Amino acid sequence: MRQPRLPGEVYSSQGPIPVYPTAGLIVREDSYGRVLYPQREIEIDDSCSSTVQILTLMHELVHIALFDSGVTALVSLEQEEIIADAIAQYFGGAIQAGYMKFTTPAVKGAK
Ligand SMILES: [Zn+2]
Repeated sequence: MRQPRLPGEVYSSQGPIPVYPTAGLIVREDSYGRVLYPQREIEIDDSCSSTVQILTLMHELVHIALFDSGVTALVSLEQEEIIADAIAQYFGGAIQAGYMKFTTPAVKGAK
């Protein structure tokens, strides 16, 4: 199956969040992305495989959802990472298996 590409932005309840492919971003040994909360931006290391990029994006989206819903105030950072990994693996797997896909809103004037 064809692997989806990173979208330029993703949905959030507070408005769209830009997604920036960033070379050489590796934050930690097992981390290839990050959320910049003040700017409400996501950076994904684009030097890793497209599969890792999509799973990383899913992981960062969970962080956004947990932050926006206030859950981050109720769990430790370690618990938040476990939750983000579990949900990212689930939705990333569903996308790879063809049960879900990324879509972006139609751009006005685009043909
Ligand atoms: Zn994380």
